[in-house]
Amino acid sequence: MPAPERRLQDVLHRIDNAAAAAGRPAPALLAVSKLQPAEAVAALAASGQRAFGENYVQEAAAKRQALDPALDAALEWHLIGHLQSNKAALAAQVFDWVQSVDRPGVAEALARHRDPARAPLNVLVQVNVEGEAGKAGCDPVDVPDLAGRIAALPGLALRGLMAIPVPHEDPEARRPAFRAMRSLFDALAAQHPGVDTLSMGMSDDFPVAVAEGATLVRIGTALFGARPPR
Ligand SMILES: *Cc1c(COP(=O)(O)O)cnc(C)c1O
Repeated sequence: MPAPERRLQDVLHRIDNAAAAAGRPAPALLAVSKLQPAEAVAALAASGQRAFGENYVQEAAAKRQALDPALDAALEWHLIGHLQSNKAALAAQVFDWVQSVDRPGVAEALARHRDPARAPLNVLVQVNVEGEAGKAGCDPVDVPDLAGRIAALPGLALRGLMAIPVPHEDPEARRPAFRAMRSLFDALAAQHPGVDTLSMGMSDDFPVAVAEGATLVRIGTALFGARPPR
C-alpha cells in the first residue's frame, strides 16, 4: 500500500475507533493540504479522499489550477485560514466552504461575490472559544447574532461552527474547549435547521474532539507528514 493510502486508512481507523468508543457517529475527514503540492492532493484523492482544506486563498487557487480539471471538479475545497476582506472575492470563487467567517463584513463580502448561478457557499462561524486576546474568531456571546446575519444573506448557507483551541502539550487539556463548542453548536442547530457541521480536532488532538462531538476533523500532518516551510 503506498504511504498516502496507508496514512489515510490509519487516520480513518482512529476516527472510527474514537467515535465508536464515545457512542457517536464518525465525523467527516477534511485533509488539510496547506503548503503541500498538488501532487500530494492527487495522491490522497486517488485513495478516495474528497474534501481538502487550505489556509491561503491564492495558494489554493494555484493548486486547483495545477490539478487535472476532472479530478479537481470531483473535490470539495474548504478555506480554514483567516480571511481578509480584500481576498473575499477570490475566496468566494475558489472555495465550496469557508470555515473562518468571524465578522459580518467578511460574510457580506463573500455573499456579494458568490456567483448566484452556483450552489451557495457553505459557511462556518469561527469561534474564539477561550476568549484569547488578539486571536481570530468571534466571541461566543456574539455567535447567535453573526449566525443570524449569515443565514439571511443570499449566496451563503450557514452550516455551523469551527474552532481552533489553544495548543497544549496534553490534548486532554483541550477537552473543556471542545465540550463548550459542542454546546454552542447544539444551541445553534436548534435555531437553524441547516446547521449540521462542527469543525474541530487536528492531528494531535482529534480523538478528544471526536469524543466531544466533532462532525468534521481537520487533519494535515497525520495524513501528509510534516509540512514544507512556507
Ligand atoms: C494547519 C491546520 C490544521 C491541520 O493541522 P495538523 O496539526 O497538521 O493536523 C487544522 N486546522 C487549521 C485551522 C489549520 O491551520
